[in-house]
Amino acid sequence: MFRTIRETEWRGRRVLVRSDFNVPITGGKITDDTRIAKGAQTIRYLLSHGCRQVIVLTHLGRPRGIQTEYSVRPVAQRLGEILGQQASFVHDCIDAPVPGARVVVLENVRFHPEEEENYEFFAKRLAKHADVYVNDAFGVCHRKHASIVKITEYLPAYAGLCLEREYSVLRGVFENPKRPFVAVVGGAKLQTKLALIDNLLKKVDRLLLGGAMIFTFYRARGYETGTSLCDEGSARMAQLLLHNEKLVLPVDVVVAKDENSDDTRTVSVQKMQKNDKGLDIGPATSSLYSDMLSGAGTVVWNGPLGYFEKKPFFEGTRRVAQAIAESGAKSVVGGGDTVRAVSEMGLEEKFYHVSTGGGATLTMMEGRALAGIKALLTNMKIFP
Ligand code: ADP
Ligand code: MG
Repeated sequence: MFRTIRETEWRGRRVLVRSDFNVPITGGKITDDTRIAKGAQTIRYLLSHGCRQVIVLTHLGRPRGIQTEYSVRPVAQRLGEILGQQASFVHDCIDAPVPGARVVVLENVRFHPEEEENYEFFAKRLAKHADVYVNDAFGVCHRKHASIVKITEYLPAYAGLCLEREYSVLRGVFENPKRPFVAVVGGAKLQTKLALIDNLLKKVDRLLLGGAMIFTFYRARGYETGTSLCDEGSARMAQLLLHNEKLVLPVDVVVAKDENSDDTRTVSVQKMQKNDKGLDIGPATSSLYSDMLSGAGTVVWNGPLGYFEKKPFFEGTRRVAQAIAESGAKSVVGGGDTVRAVSEMGLEEKFYHVSTGGGATLTMMEGRALAGIKALLTNMKIFP
C-alpha cells in the first residue's frame, strides 16, 4: 500500500497538493462544491499539523490552452470560504511567483498542454514549488499526467485522505467481499462495458444486467428487439457471455415508440414488436432483482437500468437503487450517470460508498491498474 498523509510529520513543510476540484461552473458561479468540501478535509489536516504552506493544484474542464472560462479563480474563492481562511489565487501554475500565504491555489494545470503529455520539465517546474507532494485527486489517477505521475519522480509523495478512502474502499470490496457478492451493470453501450463485465464475472456470485445493452443479448438469442439500441459490434461477445450462468437478464421490459413518448407498455422480453423501443426494465424484473439483492453481502453497481433522464423510464433504476439501499450490503456505486441518478433520488447517504472517481473508478472495477497509484508506490523506492 502507498503512504498516506497520516503517516508522516508535517511541521514546517511546504506541500503541493494535487486536488480534484473539477467542479461545474456556470456563468462564473460554482453550481456544486461537493468536491471542494471533500478535498478541504485533506488541506485542513495538513494545516492543523503545522504545514508552513499548502499549495493547491487542480484541473478544471478540458481547456485548449488558456481559456478564462476555465480559470480556477472561483475555486480559490470557495475553498477560502470553506476553510474559513484566505486562499490566495496565483494566475499561472509555473510561471508566476507564489506568495508566502499559508494556502495558495494555482491556476488550472491544464492550461499547459505539457500536463497531459506527462512532460519531465513541466513536472520539475511544478515540483520546485514545494518539498512534499500529496495526491488527493483519485478521479484523475487513471491518467498519465505530469501532476499525477511524473511529479512523483521529484518529490516524496503521499496519498491524501480523499484518495485514500476512494482507493481503499474499492480495493477492499474486490479483495475481500462479503458474500453473496452481487453486481448490477446497466448503461447504454455494451462495447464500453465488456471489460467491466468480464472482470466482475471473475469476482461476483451474480451479475444482474439492465440498460440498453440487454438488447444486444436478446438479439444474440434471436429475439425481436424492435428499435432498441443494439450494439452489433459486440454481438459475438454477447453470444459467448450468454453461456455464463452468473449472468442474469431481465424478464420484462418497458417499451414505447421512442424516449419522448409517454405512451408506454410493459412486455415480456420475447414479445417485443418491430416498432417497440426498449427503454427500461419491467416491474417483474425489478422485483426479481430486488429479491436477489436483498440477501447480498456486497453490491457493486454501475450503469442506469433504463433511460432514466425521462421520468417514465426512471422506475427500474429507482427500484433497483432502493433495493440496494435496503439490502444492508456493503454497496459501492460508480459511474458519472449512475451517481447522477442516485443523487437525483437523494439516496447518496444510503450507500456504503458513492464513488466520485468516474473513469478511475471504472478502471478499478475493470481490474486494471491506475497510473497515479503505481506512481505513488514507485515513489516509495525513489524516496524511501
Ligand atoms: P455511467 O456514466 O454511470 O457509467 P453509462 O454512461 O454507461 O453510465 O450509461 C448511462 C446512459 O445509458 C444514460 O444516458 C441512459 O439514458 C442510457 N440508457 C440506459 N438504458 C437505456 C435504454 N434502454 N435505452 C437507451 N439508453 C439507455
Ligand atoms: Mg456515462
